[in-house]
Amino acid sequence: MPNRTPFVGGNWKMNTDAQSGVDLAKALASGLAGIDAVDVAIFPPFVYLRDIHNTTSGSDILLGAQDVYNQPNGAFTGEISIDMLKDCGVSSVLTGHSERRHVIGESDTIINTKTRATLDAGLECVLCIGETLDQRESGKTDAINEHQTRAGLEGVSKEQLANVVIAYEPVWAIGTGKTATPEDAQDAHAKIRELIANMYDQDAADAIRIIYGGSMKPGNAAELMGMDDIDGGLVGGASLNADDFLEIIRAGVPQNA
Ligand code: PEP
Repeated sequence: MPNRTPFVGGNWKMNTDAQSGVDLAKALASGLAGIDAVDVAIFPPFVYLRDIHNTTSGSDILLGAQDVYNQPNGAFTGEISIDMLKDCGVSSVLTGHSERRHVIGESDTIINTKTRATLDAGLECVLCIGETLDQRESGKTDAINEHQTRAGLEGVSKEQLANVVIAYEPVWAIGTGKTATPEDAQDAHAKIRELIANMYDQDAADAIRIIYGGSMKPGNAAELMGMDDIDGGLVGGASLNADDFLEIIRAGVPQNA
């Protein structure tokens, strides 16, 4: 069985404020002391990244951004570049989150260019994929996952893939309280891993972390992350509560750690 370090990310979305974000980061940094068998990242809103970096530096928490623009600088009003994120201590970037795909309207091409900009800069990229309820009900889950994975990773080399985490997040499960069964999630993850073996090779497929997202919480995290091909979680709502998020992280610690 390949040895993959679990990855648990907390996507704060457009939540917290200056003080509550720092308080949450502080609680996580102290609660995580002694847990080193799981890679933990938090993705706060852009405007709080610097303050939160000051709070978490010295801890093992990785600082992530919820988005990035695909150009290095210039006349792109309102956008944030990779170098700006690096200035704030960011080492990981989310691309393709379902809210960016379906609420903001980002295309596969935009998501691919953001993914490549992130990887070209040497940062880690958490590429999110997943089907809507309609797509699931019409039996298109695997086809959608394949399409979004191929499109998201177009032009990404095998070397760069080492810096990619894939988050499988069925859209119907995000923020709804509905969760894929561990068996359904495992099945989707195994197919994504098989796809990576076809696109790259078996070593790449064995090494890549594929994490689950969609209403992960303390009560279901251990069962989901206990499945062979589920290497952690991307957590929205439950990451806003330090105790819940820490419990999810502890559930990801491998039995033999
Ligand atoms: C997410 O935002 O990626 C997510 C999975 O949200 P939630 O845990 O709230 O469903």
